[in-house]
Amino acid sequence: MKRSPTIQIHATEAAGAVPRLHNVVVKFIEGPRALTEVELQANSMTRHHVTDFYREQISNSGYYEQLKYIVEPSLEEFESPGCLDTSGEHDNTVLPGLQHKYAQTGLLLVTDRCASYCRFCFRKRMVGKDSDEIAPDFARLAQYIGGHPEMTNVLLSGGDPFVLSSAKLDNILDHLLPIPHLQSIRFGTKMIAFQPKRFEDPALPAVFQRIREARKTAVIVTHFDHIGEISVDAERNIRLLSAQGVQFLNQSVLLAKVNDDPEILAATFAKCHQMGVHPYYLFQGRPVKGASHFQVPLRRGLEIARGTNQRLSGLQKTYKYIMSHYTGKIEILDLGADGRVYMRYHQNKTPETIGKIFSRPYVEGACWLDDLPKG
Ligand code: SF4
Repeated sequence: MKRSPTIQIHATEAAGAVPRLHNVVVKFIEGPRALTEVELQANSMTRHHVTDFYREQISNSGYYEQLKYIVEPSLEEFESPGCLDTSGEHDNTVLPGLQHKYAQTGLLLVTDRCASYCRFCFRKRMVGKDSDEIAPDFARLAQYIGGHPEMTNVLLSGGDPFVLSSAKLDNILDHLLPIPHLQSIRFGTKMIAFQPKRFEDPALPAVFQRIREARKTAVIVTHFDHIGEISVDAERNIRLLSAQGVQFLNQSVLLAKVNDDPEILAATFAKCHQMGVHPYYLFQGRPVKGASHFQVPLRRGLEIARGTNQRLSGLQKTYKYIMSHYTGKIEILDLGADGRVYMRYHQNKTPETIGKIFSRPYVEGACWLDDLPKG
């Protein structure tokens, strides 16, 4: 199995220059290139790091030629237009590290680090960097959440919450568990793909037990994009934690060259179902600067979703094909014979809008709501 070369970074300094200039040799999928740190920063290049475990898993999966695009940098990143906050996260930030976009959900940014870094990450503006968007003060966040009884669940995200130690997670829970109206504590994580042994930490069961004893539900939302990412270790740990009462859901991103194939997605969701992980969302790729080359046109995305559903039982196709747009979470329903894309707001800041079906004329190649003209 051919493996993509790993990035090696050689930093050289221009003698006597102030400030010092560093050259970095990056081994892209297409071949090595020397870049200055200024160029890397100007292009918001995501940090390159892949765990040994994941590297081995995808190399041995039989799908390396698809899976390499998830974590290996490509020169396409320099050509991909878009923005760095496609879902309006800044506008929905109510306190540093806390977003409150939908009434029932609080989204906490608890870290800017991940075990490995996905090239398509919609939070590439902050992951792998020292970000000032990370929650600095959980007592203050808890005060806000406590004053918002409509908020029934919190999602710990980032970055990946499981890069934090179990003691740190415990510390965050100290602030969240006393809030009576919180019914569930959700963790969004790709760690189960990147480093499943993290879930063998003997201190972790007590973390989930605390959530249970506080009469709340612990939910782990895994992020498997492809069946080749689901390792034996991941399955074993999911089964162990499920037996301890942790609920599992999975979200995937529809990614060009990686999983834009109904056979692959159906196999991924069927495997999730078999492990007791409910397929939850299939996200349309976002127009992220440096990552929009992963987007799949809506026409093809709908064909893939339909092809996936044709291969699955009702129990397995519990996911929604979703565009997480600035205006809300939009379920992508169909491309009608009238040439219009039919959609429905799954989540919206305005409750009256939720569930309403609307349509826009399809434009060939459109990947996002903003690519579709009004009318
Ligand atoms: S694990 Fe999640 S947060 Fe981290 S880089 Fe991948 S998509 Fe982004």
